[in-house]
Amino acid sequence: MLQGDLVLEERLVFRRLWKAKAPSGSLALAWRVLIGKVQTKIDLARRNALPVNTSLSCGLCAVEEESCKHLFFTCGVSWKVWMEICFWLGVHTAFSCEAESHFYLHENLISCKMKDGKIMNLIWIAVVNSIWQTRNGSVFSGVGVEVVRIVELVKYKVWLWLRTHDRNFISSFYEWENNPKECIAMLH
Ligand SMILES: [Zn+2]
Repeated sequence: MLQGDLVLEERLVFRRLWKAKAPSGSLALAWRVLIGKVQTKIDLARRNALPVNTSLSCGLCAVEEESCKHLFFTCGVSWKVWMEICFWLGVHTAFSCEAESHFYLHENLISCKMKDGKIMNLIWIAVVNSIWQTRNGSVFSGVGVEVVRIVELVKYKVWLWLRTHDRNFISSFYEWENNPKECIAMLH
């Protein structure tokens, strides 16, 4: 019975994920985050896929070791990004460190309405993708990490996805950036 419940739960989170109108590459990364299979330094080191003596420090904070859970949820930089996004949306919460419960909690931050949940899922997908994109820029090209830039990237990605896939979404980026809740409410 326990196993059955787990499978059901798993299906539900993935069903929600695959319904999101985001590019397939972004969905695939979000899926890997949910199952904890992102090629972070810890993950590569476990598979002996990193050169000997390579630092395992996080590509964002450079303080702690870079595991999937750390990079996306408990890293000081990522945590600030999640909090800034909450501030932008005018909501308050304490997040879970586990990907799946984090996803569900985030989904219901604005309300329990399905339409709001779908947009919150898009934002979740945009956050993990923007974190990964910034981490890669830092690790492979030495690009500096700035919370404000990651947050801007999240806002832009979601705005672009909504403009592309939802013909009822007509808000300008200026309106979206300054009053996201009103833009979301206009979709009801
Ligand atoms: Zn970190």
